[in-house]
Amino acid sequence: MTVNFEEAKACLTTYLTQKKLSKTPARYKILEYIYSLDKPFNAEFLHAQLKDSYRLSLATIYNTLTIFLDSNLIVKYHYDGGTSLYYEKATNSAFHHIIICSECGKAREFTDVRLRNTIHARTFKGFKATRHTLTVYGLCSKCSKKQLNK
Ligand SMILES: [Zn+2]
Repeated sequence: MTVNFEEAKACLTTYLTQKKLSKTPARYKILEYIYSLDKPFNAEFLHAQLKDSYRLSLATIYNTLTIFLDSNLIVKYHYDGGTSLYYEKATNSAFHHIIICSECGKAREFTDVRLRNTIHARTFKGFKATRHTLTVYGLCSKCSKKQLNK
């Protein structure tokens, strides 16, 4: 099951109230935009998309992403050997598999029940696994064509 925007909004309100942070419209706008995306994003991308409509600075975006991370509304991961940082909306699903192009950053989710069950069946000494993410890196068809033409 995927968390929808209404649920995410309620989580954010609870979090902001608990932390005594102000419930600025910008925070909700950014959250709404993130929950309308079905792909990973970074702060620069959000800034480029939202700055004109909502007059947001990059600093506001970073600040807001930190709040969303803290309140588990988004997750972050690295690719390109840790040099690029990406975010994605959090879902309730206990597993998360994606393929990502290490050239342009285009990502797509995939489902593999056999793979999921294999990982779930794995036990770790002194550790209880609750969810997992799996990222497969490579080149999308566009980028691999470009490389061939170099
Ligand atoms: Zn690509």
